[in-house]
Amino acid sequence: MSVRVAVVTGSNDGIGLAIVRALCSQFEGDVYLTARNVGRGQKAVESLISEGLKPKFLQLDINDLNSITAAAAFFKESYGGVDVLVNNAAIAFKVNDTVPFDVQAEVTLRTNFFSTRDMLTHFMPLTQLCVSGRVVNVSSFAALYTLRQCSPALQQRFRSTDITEDELVGLMQQFVDETKTNKHQQAGWPQTAYGVKTLSLFFQLQFRFLNQSILLNSCCPGWVRTNMAGPKAPKSPEEGADTPVYLALLPPGATEPHGKFISARKVREW
Ligand code: NDP
Repeated sequence: MSVRVAVVTGSNDGIGLAIVRALCSQFEGDVYLTARNVGRGQKAVESLISEGLKPKFLQLDINDLNSITAAAAFFKESYGGVDVLVNNAAIAFKVNDTVPFDVQAEVTLRTNFFSTRDMLTHFMPLTQLCVSGRVVNVSSFAALYTLRQCSPALQQRFRSTDITEDELVGLMQQFVDETKTNKHQQAGWPQTAYGVKTLSLFFQLQFRFLNQSILLNSCCPGWVRTNMAGPKAPKSPEEGADTPVYLALLPPGATEPHGKFISARKVREW
């Protein structure tokens, strides 16, 4: 029987590292800690090995299409597919960051939307090669708050069931472009780049890949003590990993949740 494999993006630190730690002890197969920086990735792998775990490592920078396609080719060649993919990698500017908003919007959406979409484009075909493929997009409740701050017209498009991938990509690009002339709020967008990222990823689930034999869900880990959220957050990275790991390990034969937004292991309506 072939060896099963789980892949977690951006897992040298924070919630991603905690997801890898949990999968190493609960997933039956190989678990890949991936990181854009080899040194940080290997250091994280060594820390898990010192705990008695056996993660594997692969360099994967989701902002680099060559890195994504090389990783996808590696998993296809070595494992014949990918059983579990957790899209965890993301960035967020701090609230008081002085980088101009249009730059924040471009940089944030590049990693959190366009590059994550590249991951889905190249890895979804690999999960479909497996019997019980599981895909987890780590998103945020910020998506829901952000949706409510959008104009009624934009909300209607995001909530519609007939929105296409091309339309969604166009909307995300429109947001980035309109921040450059400071027209985004006039056009119905909120003043948050991170929220728009999570909004897009969350809604991406509603129309794409839903008719295929995998379970794909988006989730919020809660407010978690990491570099991104800071030391005051109430949850530990291990607690934040709970729902993503639950979704990654939905048992064979499960038919739901699918195409849903989950927090604390429960489906949340939007
Ligand atoms: P961290 O900032 O602690 O970790 C983010 C990870 O993503 C780091 O390992 C970082 O690598 C990696 N990363 C960033 N860009 C890339 C890239 N281009 N390619 C590969 N890896 C990359 O964040 P968290 O652990 O807090 O966040 C994990 C997920 O949880 C994110 O999707 C976030 O949006 C979500 N989330 C977090 C919340 C929280 O309270 N912490 C709340 C809601 C959602 P490097 O070390 O090289 O920078």
